[in-house]
Amino acid sequence: MGVTVHGLGEVALEHEGYVAAILLDGSRTSTWAREVAAVMTGKFCAACSCGWAGTREWDSDRGTEQYPAEGGKREEAILGEWEHHITDVVTEVERQEATAIIRCLRAEAAALEAAATDPAAMPAALAKARDAVTELADRLSDSAAVAQALGERGR
Ligand SMILES: [Zn+2]
Repeated sequence: MGVTVHGLGEVALEHEGYVAAILLDGSRTSTWAREVAAVMTGKFCAACSCGWAGTREWDSDRGTEQYPAEGGKREEAILGEWEHHITDVVTEVERQEATAIIRCLRAEAAALEAAATDPAAMPAALAKARDAVTELADRLSDSAAVAQALGERGR
C-alpha cells in the first residue's frame, strides 16, 4: 500500500511512504480496524517505513474515521510531504558519496606521489590507481544520474 520512488538510486527504494492515522496516544498506524477507529484523532500524516513522519496533520477527505481516498488529491498532498523526505534523504546520501569520492581521489593522488620516488613501486601504483579511477568514474556516473533525476523532480 506504500509508495516508493524509482530513479533516485538504491537508497530511495529502501523508503516506503504511506498515509498514517494519528492515534490518541500520539502513535501512528496505517491499518484500519474497528479498534483503531475508536482511538483515531481524525488527523492523518505522511509517514515512511524508516520511521520518519511528517509534521503536518491533515484532515481526511472522507470523515474522521476514514483514511483519505486512495488516489485522491488529499492523499496525493500528504504523500507529497513524504516525497520531500525522500529528496532530503537522497540529497544527503549523494553529499556523503561526493565526500567519499573526493577522499578516494586524494588518497590515490598521494599514493601516486609516494610511488613517484620509487620506480620499482610505480607499475603497481599505476595499476591500482587505474582501477580506483575506473571505479570512481562509475560511482560519479551513478551520482550524476541521481542528481539529474532529483533536478527533474524539482521542476
Ligand atoms: Zn524514509
